Amino acid sequence: MEFKRLRLSGFKSFVEPAELRIEPGLTGVVGPNGCGKSNLLEAIRWVMGENSPKSLRSGGMEDVIFAGTEARSPRDFAEVQLSIADDDGDDLEFVRRVERGAGSAYRINGKDVRAKDVALTFADAATGAHSPALVSQGKIAQVIAAKPTERRQMLEEAAGISGLHVRRKDAEQK
Ligand code: ATP
Ligand code: MG
Repeated sequence: MEFKRLRLSGFKSFVEPAELRIEPGLTGVVGPNGCGKSNLLEAIRWVMGENSPKSLRSGGMEDVIFAGTEARSPRDFAEVQLSIADDDGDDLEFVRRVERGAGSAYRINGKDVRAKDVALTFADAATGAHSPALVSQGKIAQVIAAKPTERRQMLEEAAGISGLHVRRKDAEQK
């Protein structure tokens, strides 16, 4: 699985529509403090289904929407689009959108889907919102200090077997 392109509109500090091509290999994001580097990583997690206020540095669901500055008025929605090539080389386009007062909606290749469908797509790929491949600021210290069970979970995600647990839970509920 390969990330190809990220598009943001109204997400946190990315108030105007912005597009970033993600080229093969290692991608570095550089810029002064507060320019939005961490917001970019959070956008990638968010479109893959992340809701944890801690991971998103937000209080509530709508806090990811551009809140306005002295010079600009707030936006009423945030949308992030992530284009991915899967392991067969097929293009997949994920969209997540949240509107004030209207909650969060997901699309895969233009089709409305449930949050669970998005989670299942990524659960096997070790590229999900909680993937250890996405290392946020301050996370390294956390990996070192993690309890053995937490570290096992990180390794399972890295190895791509955590999807089995998601499916088992799903099956147990039926
Ligand atoms: P550092 O180098 O300090 O880690 P950074 O490049 O990672 O900085 P971010 O944390 O991504 O910067 O961006 C912080 C900026 O995003 C702040 O200016 C903050 O006001 C802005 N921001 C976050 N959420 C919103 C929002 N909902 N609406 C408007 N601006 C926001
Ligand atoms: Mg940062």
